[in-house]
Amino acid sequence: PFDVLVVGGGPAGAAAAVYAARKGIRTAIAAERFGGQVNDTLAIENYISVLETDGPKFAMSLEAHVKAYGVDVMNLQRGDKLIPAATPGGLVEVQLANGGTLKSRTVILSTGARWRNVNVPGEQEYKNKGVAYCPHCDGPLFKGKRVAVIGGGNSGVEAAIDLAGLVSHVTLIEFGEALRADAVLVSKLKSLPNVSIHTQAQTTELTGDGHKLNGLSYTDRASGESRHIELEGVFVQIGLVPNTEWLRGVVELSKHGEIIVDARGQTSVPGVFAAGDATTVPFKQIIIAAGDGAKAALGAFDYLMRT
Ligand code: FAD
Repeated sequence: PFDVLVVGGGPAGAAAAVYAARKGIRTAIAAERFGGQVNDTLAIENYISVLETDGPKFAMSLEAHVKAYGVDVMNLQRGDKLIPAATPGGLVEVQLANGGTLKSRTVILSTGARWRNVNVPGEQEYKNKGVAYCPHCDGPLFKGKRVAVIGGGNSGVEAAIDLAGLVSHVTLIEFGEALRADAVLVSKLKSLPNVSIHTQAQTTELTGDGHKLNGLSYTDRASGESRHIELEGVFVQIGLVPNTEWLRGVVELSKHGEIIVDARGQTSVPGVFAAGDATTVPFKQIIIAAGDGAKAALGAFDYLMRT
């Protein structure tokens, strides 16, 4: 058995594995796809001390750092079921989709999250070519340009307010009859001069010239008419879904499916810690996930010393 088993190989999991291995304890990491969301990121410009890098390069450095400490890396492995220890301080089990079982005194869950897609023509084609999901990450790429935000919940309205300070114009597209964000955010959004809001608008296509995005088509659900807006960027903000379906009923989750953690990354299950985008920790960013992974590893080490 391992002392620390990390499930998930994004920035959170990689940081947790490095921190655990540096304590000289038996550490392993099982990940479906090492690197996580970073693999789908074009430019990373906000990881402090690294002025600029790209996603695949960053993912490779994560893996190299983990391997430099002799961590047992199991790539292409999906956790399917978590079985808490039968006795306090006992072994926690993780069953894998391939039928195998891993046992460890502590487990760090860092399975991350995925952005919900709008699933319209053009979305996949123009991903990273105008279609974006993270305003903190990609907002500055659209400085002075025209963008739309799809989604009128808190994250969409926050994104629109944020982007309005950077870009020339923001169009907010909401499917329902009204924005669903907190009233204070909605009134802030409505006070901005360079924002238009379209409710009852169903996005039907993200258009482009074959190389990059150039517009968004939607149906006005009130009149049934089709409309087209010319723009350079679209931010899809219809939800970030944590990869925690496999933990339901075992580990306590928030109503959004995020793993509930305390300040040390401890979950509701003894010996099981969690870090990064899969958890209730606010603001889903690489540097935050990495710091969180380090914290969960130190939390797990502290637990091992006491049991
Ligand atoms: P993830 O990166 O999601 O990693 C999760 C890991 O768990 C992966 O290895 C995955 O394969 C694995 N996994 C999932 N389920 C299982 C399972 N059941 N069993 C085993 N393994 C599993 N942030 C920034 O700070 N700057 C940026 O510029 C930036 N740009 C972004 C651009 C895009 C397009 C996207 C999608 C995100 C961007 N982000 C950016 C956000 C950033 O990538 C995330 O906040 C960060 O990767 C979260 O790290 P994580 O380790 O918590 O999870």
